[in-house]
Amino acid sequence: MAVLGIDLGTTNSLAAYWQDGKACLVADEHGEVLFPSVVSFIGEEGLVAGAEAKKRIVTHRKETASSFKRFMGTDKRYQLGAAHYTPMELSAMILAHIRRNAEYFLKEEIEEAIITVPAYFNDKQRSDTKMAAKIAGLKVERLINEPSAAALAYRMECGQEDATLLVFDFGGGTLDLSYVECYDNIIEIIAVAGDNYLGGDDIDRLIAAYFCRENGLVMADVPKRGVQNITDTEEGTKTRLSISEYAALISCAEAAKCRLGQEDEVEITVEAGGRDYHVKLTDDILFEICMPLFTKIKKLFLHLLKDAGARVSDLTDLVMVGGSSRLGVVKRFLTELLGKKPVVLGETDKVVAMGAGVYAGIRTRREDIRDMLLTDVCPFTLGVEVWRGRGDVQNALLPMIERNSTLPMSTHEYLVTVHDYQSEIRVGIYQGEEYYAKDNLFLGEIIIPVYPKPAGQEGVDVYFTYDINGILYVEVVNSQNVREHILLLGQELSREELARCQQQMKQLMLPPIMRKENQELLAKLQQYYGNSIGVRREQIGWFINWFVYGLQSKRFCAMTRAVETAKNQLAAWRKQEGMAEEELFDGELKQQFVKEWEEMGLEEE
Ligand code: ADP
Ligand code: MG
Repeated sequence: MAVLGIDLGTTNSLAAYWQDGKACLVADEHGEVLFPSVVSFIGEEGLVAGAEAKKRIVTHRKETASSFKRFMGTDKRYQLGAAHYTPMELSAMILAHIRRNAEYFLKEEIEEAIITVPAYFNDKQRSDTKMAAKIAGLKVERLINEPSAAALAYRMECGQEDATLLVFDFGGGTLDLSYVECYDNIIEIIAVAGDNYLGGDDIDRLIAAYFCRENGLVMADVPKRGVQNITDTEEGTKTRLSISEYAALISCAEAAKCRLGQEDEVEITVEAGGRDYHVKLTDDILFEICMPLFTKIKKLFLHLLKDAGARVSDLTDLVMVGGSSRLGVVKRFLTELLGKKPVVLGETDKVVAMGAGVYAGIRTRREDIRDMLLTDVCPFTLGVEVWRGRGDVQNALLPMIERNSTLPMSTHEYLVTVHDYQSEIRVGIYQGEEYYAKDNLFLGEIIIPVYPKPAGQEGVDVYFTYDINGILYVEVVNSQNVREHILLLGQELSREELARCQQQMKQLMLPPIMRKENQELLAKLQQYYGNSIGVRREQIGWFINWFVYGLQSKRFCAMTRAVETAKNQLAAWRKQEGMAEEELFDGELKQQFVKEWEEMGLEEE
């Protein structure tokens, strides 16, 4: 049984596995390794995920959901058709889609996965990711941070020297910077900084804005129905792009941006109001266009260094990750900022997945791989609510575990009473960076009795422990040694909710290769059935029944087996045409069917 390493990305997701001493990527039936993180509703038949769904972003915008990872951990709902889906459910569909493709690709069942998440993901986002995996039928022992995965990939390729890395992960919609130290077999994230709204999509928009400026066009921003009022640019009345023209411009901008890697100069041509408009794009022009974005990146980078307590000169290597890191202008900007040439590990958008594949190898304890220890950091400050003194009207947050602390981490504080003779103390637990407790995310509370005494003369010990799996354990002990504790790990789904989500998954359609092939095979089998009589006809009927049952199991292995056996059986029949009816099924094959049939019957319950 293979273990998959999955990079569940905002724009694209990938899967890798460990084989023959290296990580390899899973490809779909067209040989594509990037699985777009997109889900689309295609009517009563159900939902599609991946490349097929991505094609529908422009044509069926309302029925298609993308970039939902940005809202992981929230209750945001996406309406696709009549039903509503949470980011967690949509992510589950992406995972199920990848799982099916991987099972088809590897001809093996997959039950376990290592999934990567951004280092700054909070408890809720992490537990939702785990739940998505559960819904998709995958066991997840551990989530690993994307920068750790990138560092693992780097260690595999660039050796085991001690190193201090800046992992620069620039994707479609997000930028994550991580300061990572590698020492012997330990990979430690020291600090992270990021922006959830800064990515390749923004570059596309900046290019589109430049295109409009250069051509005296106005961008469509408010969706309007009916005919667009398109006039010429004379007398200051500028041509306004329609929504679909703007969508076309964005996709041309993205294509042009990607082409700049191979060509020195590319031209963007977009039709608007029946006229063609053009603009030329070179690396120098793009560098100028991206300036506002670079300014933001520089700010984030300085913030990261400050949190890491480090200087630029402490960095030994720059590891570039994510599709947008492919851009020459981004490399140029970073080289100038750091005074250092980046290490580019193959294709930047595959590095995280490759690292996850390496970790999958470690998980399965392969001998051809060395064990690695990945440490983690706490992405946000965790603290308790306290009254700081007379000046404050409201309670403040006392940090117990500061952001970017290395995990596991334990701390202790002694809190005292603030009112005379109060009989209990309430310990409010929060996550966040704000001064006032109420401005942070409330996680939970512990209320414990205390011996009534004048203010400040009685108190409780508060212990915080944050473990490697992102579980926060808080314990409060009073002077009579009464203990209260609470475990905070984001909420779990109830059994009913899990069942409902798993039911929803059944709407997710199979990859097209399966569908078409199934139909054809079934048609051929039925044709044979119609053309035969007697025992043979009975046997074919029995075979059709088995085949359909295999397809309906929705287990990729069972389906693959059914399809392949059906193909072989049809070929054999063709060859044996004219042979005695009894010989049509050789005994061994029949026994195998019976066995598999029984297995599948058992699987049902
Ligand atoms: P995520 O991690 O957010 O899922 P990826 O790392 O796959 O995303 O990056 C997707 C982004 O990379 C998109 O904005 C896409 O336009 C951009 N991209 C992909 N290939 C190239 C390329 N050759 N040159 C520039 N940008 C690219
Ligand atoms: Mg990514």
